[in-house]
Amino acid sequence: MSATAQLEEAQPADAAAASALARLGRGHAGAEGALSIAKVQPMTTARALRGPFDYTLPEGLRDGVDIGSMLVVPFGRREVLGVVVGLADSSDVAEEKLLAPLRVLDEGPPALPVDLVALAEWIAAEYCSTIARALALVLPPGASRRLSGRKRRAVERPRHLAVGTRSPSAPELTDEQAAVLAPLIDALDAGRCEQRLLHGVTGSGKTEVYLRAAASALEHDRGAIILVPEIALTPQIVGRFIERFGETVAVLHSRLTPGQRYAEWRRLREGEARVCVGPRSAVFAPIEDLGLIVVDEEHDASYKHEGDPRYDARDVAAERARRSGAVLLLGSATPRAETVHRVPASRLARRVDGRPLPAVRVLDMRGEQQGLHPLTAQALAEVRSARGKAIVLLNRRGWSNFLSCRSCGRVWSCPECDVALVLHRSGGYLACHHCGHRESAPARCDECSSTAVARHGAGTERLQHEISSVFDDGSFPVFRLDADVVAAADSAPARANADEEGGVGALLRRFEAADCGVLIGTQMVAKGHDFPDVSLGVVLDADATLRFPDFRAEERTFALIAQLAGRAGRGVHGRVLVQTIAPEARAIVHAARHDSDGFIAGELDRRRALRYPPFSHLIRIVCSAEESPPARDAATELRERICASAPSLDSSVLGPAALFRLRGRERQVLVVKAPERREALQVVGEAVQRAAAGGSHAGVSFSVDVDPQ
Ligand code: ADP
Ligand code: ZN
Ligand code: ZN
Repeated sequence: MSATAQLEEAQPADAAAASALARLGRGHAGAEGALSIAKVQPMTTARALRGPFDYTLPEGLRDGVDIGSMLVVPFGRREVLGVVVGLADSSDVAEEKLLAPLRVLDEGPPALPVDLVALAEWIAAEYCSTIARALALVLPPGASRRLSGRKRRAVERPRHLAVGTRSPSAPELTDEQAAVLAPLIDALDAGRCEQRLLHGVTGSGKTEVYLRAAASALEHDRGAIILVPEIALTPQIVGRFIERFGETVAVLHSRLTPGQRYAEWRRLREGEARVCVGPRSAVFAPIEDLGLIVVDEEHDASYKHEGDPRYDARDVAAERARRSGAVLLLGSATPRAETVHRVPASRLARRVDGRPLPAVRVLDMRGEQQGLHPLTAQALAEVRSARGKAIVLLNRRGWSNFLSCRSCGRVWSCPECDVALVLHRSGGYLACHHCGHRESAPARCDECSSTAVARHGAGTERLQHEISSVFDDGSFPVFRLDADVVAAADSAPARANADEEGGVGALLRRFEAADCGVLIGTQMVAKGHDFPDVSLGVVLDADATLRFPDFRAEERTFALIAQLAGRAGRGVHGRVLVQTIAPEARAIVHAARHDSDGFIAGELDRRRALRYPPFSHLIRIVCSAEESPPARDAATELRERICASAPSLDSSVLGPAALFRLRGRERQVLVVKAPERREALQVVGEAVQRAAAGGSHAGVSFSVDVDPQ
């Protein structure tokens, strides 16, 4: 079939054959009797359409095109970007019907390394997505914009890398560090594929272990990927890698300009850079002969990608490491129960500086006024008189959580989503934290005209105001860090002078440089910061995250408190206060004791009893539409399809159940809680593809989330 005919009949993919060819590797196109058929995956987003499609390669193109090449191909009536996923010497399609590519987009070697093409195929199957969507993850930055044939402008290196002063000397390892490093070096020496969890308390020097492992990979002429939750929030770790390894480090993150991103990608592709530090998407860095993948703060939620394919960078890292024969090193002070269950652990039980972890005191807020507990207020006052530093965590931004009319009871909610709007007082607007809708803050109720508008609850904006008005006497600054501050700092004109970290980096550095003060904010303040002079950590409303209807709520709460506690008492004596109305909650009790083993053991027991991961595999399917009935019909049909093809799953499919309306769409969810992963993935993937392609659910979108977080 020609691409057009194949498109019309929408034949199922010959993906297995394409993968088999992909595995044959490179070098075929250039060989004697070069292969004349390219199996091309067009980069379209339609779920119903499955490639690859055959194209004929004219003589002149045969030597230059290989698996991983990017082409512009005629497709239906359009010209689209396509990726070569296989080569063959014949096609089932009659020769005269085959079309030829219009252009090759590669500059030099094929755009994509062959192992990334194969990894994309794995992702498409593993996350019930499509190959085109998975390939979009591994394409060079800006690839889709090159369809127009526009030439790239001269590429610029990111500024922090241009100079960044190299000091390759490393500190002497502590005994604990040396002990956890030894098996990693052994595996790297032997070229053995191995997974390790580095379970080390906050401040135990995990980064130094990553650096040494990366150095060993480089000595063996192999590359390394270091995944971090968010570059802007963890500039220190990037700095340490650049300091140690210099130009061989490439940094990939969203704050780079498109030209900078491409320059870094190209340096990796050409082997000029062999170490890549970046957030989850850096797991796709085009590094050949990969020896090591590190996932720092492996518990962090940002490793899960929220767009389709909903991949989990930790699992992709594990798969890529397995395929490359590389070492996978997952580091955290608060690892996930799944990781502890699956991966052998090495421990770092003590902080490098020998200081104890800070004492944590839980403050019962039942029966107390909202806001700061008297002991918290007193502790902050003490820090101020000692000219010290404190960090206060309140995991909610804005001024008030919601507004209501005191006379008619109306609650201001989002027109597109069934959620309350949050007041942002300094900006003078109400915002939906789900879809981004904004409207001006009301002076009166539109329903009854009353001017008595009540503000409920407090977020970081209000907390900053309250703490400033009590504690900031002009010499004790109050800093705030949350998504609003970040967005404002990034859009300010001053941004032009800031470096690639943007406003967050500048703000963190100001707090670090100040001789005293308080940093308040959302979970951003609990990330891996290493400030040596913070003596007080405070968590407000510590049980807020427990109230989410999610089996990971306890784990998240534990991690948040333990991580915040980890910021205090590095270099000075530290203590932590945790305000809560649930002082007996397991997550809070264990976090207060720094008892991650006890917490994880309990968590695994609970999950075993309830059949949650790692004792089952969850697949969440959301059907959404403008109206409820079509969404519900689609979900019901899916359920029937799944149960018909795998009757054993019958008791494992929960729903359909309604979710709250989001971005103007009614949603119905199905959750499959499967004992066996492969079968469930296949059955769900097929059911969704058939329902989406069937044509009876016009206007319904399907989204599949495997291992939802
Ligand atoms: P973690 O990531 O485990 O919380 P870090 O890697 O941030 O800990 O290390 C904490 C501090 O200890 C850092 O300032 C780091 O430079 C320092 N450090 C790490 N290892 C050593 C060592 N072997 N000797 C001296 N200082 C070290
Ligand atoms: Zn009213
Ligand atoms: Zn909304």
